[in-house]
Amino acid sequence: MNPLDWLAGLDSPTGLFRRFRSRVLRREVEVVGRCTLCGRCCRSVLLRDRGRWLRSLSQFERLVAEAPEHARFRPKKRNADGYLLFDCALLGEDNLCTDHDTRPALCGNYPSKSLYYHGGRLPQGCGYAFRAVTFRDVLFGRRPFKPADFSAMLRREIEQEQDKQT
Ligand code: SF4
Ligand code: SF4
Repeated sequence: MNPLDWLAGLDSPTGLFRRFRSRVLRREVEVVGRCTLCGRCCRSVLLRDRGRWLRSLSQFERLVAEAPEHARFRPKKRNADGYLLFDCALLGEDNLCTDHDTRPALCGNYPSKSLYYHGGRLPQGCGYAFRAVTFRDVLFGRRPFKPADFSAMLRREIEQEQDKQT
């Protein structure tokens, strides 16, 4: 995560807390699981512009004017936090994307860690999940996962130690 990213998107207290916790614990969230091609994420899309989730139709119209590939999205309703949810006109009846090769970056990167760090949630039933280390995990010594880099570093140190002894 960029050192300044945790300050961006102050529109979401949940996101702010997640970024704060990640920085203090020095642990990145992990995206685990796999896509089951259910199409739910294409029916409840949150859009961001200028670092903010969209709340109004005028914000959406400005986004489409600047980035016309977003015209595929249709405002549907608001979520519990008051942000607009969109569905996509290019989702096929079989729940597959009809524009897969040229879909917007936000679709190709889904679900991104950025969604988590800005307070977003995955649709209910999504095959992916965000897995984060919590303060409670650290307090009670529970470590559900170790960052891969740390494991590799440890392995290297053990190998170097063994080399010295031979
Ligand atoms: S909601 Fe999750 S499992 Fe369903 S299509 Fe989207 S990414 Fe895949
Ligand atoms: S462009 Fe494709 S992947 Fe993106 S929301 Fe629409 S149907 Fe889903």
